[in-house]
Amino acid sequence: MNNGYITLPSAVIPVTREVDVLVIGGGASGIAAAIAAARGGATTMLVEQRGFLGGMGTVALVPAFCPFTDKQKPIVRGLGLQLMEQMKEACDPAFRKEYQDMLDWVPIDPEVLKRVYDNAVLESGVTPLYHTFVYDVVLSPDRKTVEGVIVVNKTGRSFISCRYIIDCTGDGDIAALAGVPFQKGGEEGELQPGSMCYLLANVDRPKFSRFLEESGDTGQLHTTVELAISEGALPEGRKSISGLAWVSDYLVGVNFGHVFGIDGTLAEDLTRGAIEGRRTAERQLQFFRKYVPGFEHAHMVASGEQLGIRETRRIEGDYILTVDDFITARSFPDDIARNAYYIDIHLANSKSDMTFNHLPPGVSHGVPYRIMLPVGIDNLWVAGRSVSSDRAVQGSLRVMPNCFSMGQAAGTAAVLALQGSTGSRGIAVAELQRRLLEQDVWLGEDRVPAEKEKEKEGNTP
Ligand SMILES: Cc1cc2nc3c(=O)[nH]c(=O)nc-3n(C[C@H](O)[C@H](O)[C@H](O)COP(=O)(O)OP(=O)(O)OC[C@H]3O[C@@H](n4cnc5c(N)ncnc54)[C@H](O)[C@@H]3O)c2cc1C
Repeated sequence: MNNGYITLPSAVIPVTREVDVLVIGGGASGIAAAIAAARGGATTMLVEQRGFLGGMGTVALVPAFCPFTDKQKPIVRGLGLQLMEQMKEACDPAFRKEYQDMLDWVPIDPEVLKRVYDNAVLESGVTPLYHTFVYDVVLSPDRKTVEGVIVVNKTGRSFISCRYIIDCTGDGDIAALAGVPFQKGGEEGELQPGSMCYLLANVDRPKFSRFLEESGDTGQLHTTVELAISEGALPEGRKSISGLAWVSDYLVGVNFGHVFGIDGTLAEDLTRGAIEGRRTAERQLQFFRKYVPGFEHAHMVASGEQLGIRETRRIEGDYILTVDDFITARSFPDDIARNAYYIDIHLANSKSDMTFNHLPPGVSHGVPYRIMLPVGIDNLWVAGRSVSSDRAVQGSLRVMPNCFSMGQAAGTAAVLALQGSTGSRGIAVAELQRRLLEQDVWLGEDRVPAEKEKEKEGNTP
């Protein structure tokens, strides 16, 4: 041991795979990236540290999908919308009946969703590799290309070689390992808090609904939570529940309260967050049983395998999407998606404020291709929560519908790069947009698929 470090002997490890496109991280962005790449004809592997897909939506039991609409029409379409519809289809008849026409805040049935994701990646031809953690990358001698990653799993250490790689870890792990500059949190390193989400069974939704009607309290239980805080049954902090998502009349997903000061890129913090999160959830369970009619016999059947993490690294890309772009609903020549979700920044400590900034109904801004291109590396895309944006916009872009969109665009771009033997910056962006439109992605009123354009021309008198 030398000054707190040890030197490892050099090691020879097996090359277990050689793929065209390697996707790391099986959350919303990674699932969409892998499916898009495989459907485009690339040999594609999806590496995920857990034994299932879904990222925060299943690992951390985030209870609902954020809106796919701009409050007037669906604007996030393509793979994300299709996967959510597949989840609805696979749920019980009562779930289908209640949510079949909803596109915003559809509750997540995590066990159903895990199976839907398994099937979707397998059907597309992706090779999934679960229970596998990426802990290092190998760069080309000029350090501009990622040649592959070193993984560790039950089988041991091995190398997966790739031509192109998409970082969907939510934390920008691959970009950071490749030396891409990044920012984490605010000016003083402050981060949005995490939340331990959970599922409560044995609840009585009709009784709860009657309570809301009779008491006049909101669906987020503002009055009841304030009362519980004043009586010491809940800690100071957020004065309402973020969300209750009813999977059935007797099962509800809960997102409530915060755990502060957790950096999701540090194992020690994640450990503390998990333990504190479960303690918080237990206290909330007692609150529900005592204060909320319909929850008297609530039983916690599951809490997140890890604390839900809202914010870690934001990589530096060829463009940094800003709050000004959001507010002015800017469009870009290289748009690969549209976003209308509000800026939703949770308080950094129990005394600070939440920030919300909504676009008017029907308004959305463009999401440019360049925010997925980490500076300095030519065969790497970053999609999902850690794309290149300022902190405020990350508070909006981070939600699952957007992560699906970015993933789908990154996977499609990787296919184009493969076909043209170019780097990520060498592809024809117009062709990328054409392919996305063909895949039912929506890029705004003025950008429609070619056959619709022809129909429009045909209609011209
Ligand atoms: C408490 C909370 C509430 C939220 N509420 C909502 C909501 O209501 N609706 C909504 O749409 N969004 C919500 N969000 C946001 C949303 O869930 C996430 O931002 C989104 O899931 C991010 O998707 P992603 O694909 O970028 O990353 P993630 O979902 O985090 O997925 C990343 C995946 O990569 C894997 N991984 C990471 N590092 C490695 C590695 N080194 N090797 C191998 N695998 C790795 C992880 O295990 C994980 O499965 C919420 C988030 C939180 C924390």
